[in-house]
Amino acid sequence: MKNDCVFCAIVAGEIPSFKVYEDDCVLAYLDINPFTKGHALVIPKVHSAGLLDTPAETLKEVVVRVQKVAAHIKATLPCDGFNILQNNGAAAGQTVSHLHFHIVPRFADAEGGAVFTPHTGDMEALKALAERLRF
Ligand code: 5GP
Ligand code: ZN
Repeated sequence: MKNDCVFCAIVAGEIPSFKVYEDDCVLAYLDINPFTKGHALVIPKVHSAGLLDTPAETLKEVVVRVQKVAAHIKATLPCDGFNILQNNGAAAGQTVSHLHFHIVPRFADAEGGAVFTPHTGDMEALKALAERLRF
């Protein structure tokens, strides 16, 4: 547990949360400021700041739980689809430095359409970037 971490405090029960799932590895609860109805967060119980700080074995266990919680929310809410968001660093919008996956339910009849605005791809730039990033 990290002392100044709000999500560690939720795991410890020091801050209340609206839990939807819990096991030995993760806790899942509703986001306090939801993007959509049913917006939930899945976090590992053991603190790590973000994706790059988390041991691969832990990450595997967490992602399997993200799938499980998302499937349950989709069937039970119900919703038509969902986004998984996982922010790393302030520049990416991360406000809580404890690894968390957002599950954001989406509804076919919702206003607003797609979440992200696509930009027409420059094929040469994409090709060069893929060559630079390929590993
Ligand atoms: P981030 O922007 O770091 O990816 O997402 C952090 C999320 O945690 C935000 O969506 C925010 O609403 C949520 N959040 C922050 N503090 C609390 C809290 O005390 N309880 C709950 N349930 N959610 C929180
Ligand atoms: Zn923490």
